[in-house]
Amino acid sequence: MRRKLVAGNWKMNGLGASLAEVDALVAAHPAPACEVLICPPATLIHRLAARAGSAISVGGQDCHAAASGAHTGDISALMLQDAGASHVILGHSERRADHHETDADVRAKAASAMDAGLVAIVCLGETGAERDAGRALAVVAGQVAGSVPEGVNPGALVLAYEPVWAIGTGRTPTLAEIAEVHALMRAELAARFGADAAARVRLLYGGSVKPGNAAAIFAVPDVDGALVGGASLKAADFSAIIAALEGAPA
Ligand code: PEP
Repeated sequence: MRRKLVAGNWKMNGLGASLAEVDALVAAHPAPACEVLICPPATLIHRLAARAGSAISVGGQDCHAAASGAHTGDISALMLQDAGASHVILGHSERRADHHETDADVRAKAASAMDAGLVAIVCLGETGAERDAGRALAVVAGQVAGSVPEGVNPGALVLAYEPVWAIGTGRTPTLAEIAEVHALMRAELAARFGADAAARVRLLYGGSVKPGNAAAIFAVPDVDGALVGGASLKAADFSAIIAALEGAPA
């Protein structure tokens, strides 16, 4: 029912020469058994899409909520789609922190992305202080309520649970903690959109996913794949994570 997805977030990394990593990935996974997505900087979307063909999907890392207009430096969902993107990451914690993006901002961007025909990957997750205070579940439930627009096409929505304290740190929650949050996200979606629709939304885990821990994380119930930062920059590491997802329980 849900096609597994492994998404690489290159963040503000990557020049033309980095496309060699994509060539190596395509050579290793010409017809992957799961969906493979790379979200490079916007400057590489067009070239990456041309280079990756059908083996790898390409996504943006953010979009503006408006389709066009006087917003210097911003990029619209339609522009991403026009450049060759099929997905867009929204509400990443780095954007929530660096650009003060609120749940309402993320919700508007997600609606705009879906209007443009993109799959919206909405990022959620508690800070370390919030987890230490026992508030992780409440924070994530609030972000699901605030960041997911009404009337979604469940096939065009992906939620990525990314505890802020796990991003780029080498630390991860326990498998039980991941399972607890993913079950909560599924339940929140079901309460709002119904069980059938909720069962079609893919739920990713993100935060220090590496070749060494990917298989264990992919065996957690309700984990449909991963959003990967640092380990997506090197073809060898990302390839090992793709292979782990290909071998994960259905
Ligand atoms: C991310 O920033 O989305 C991420 C998951 O980063 P990393 O894998 O490097 O922790």
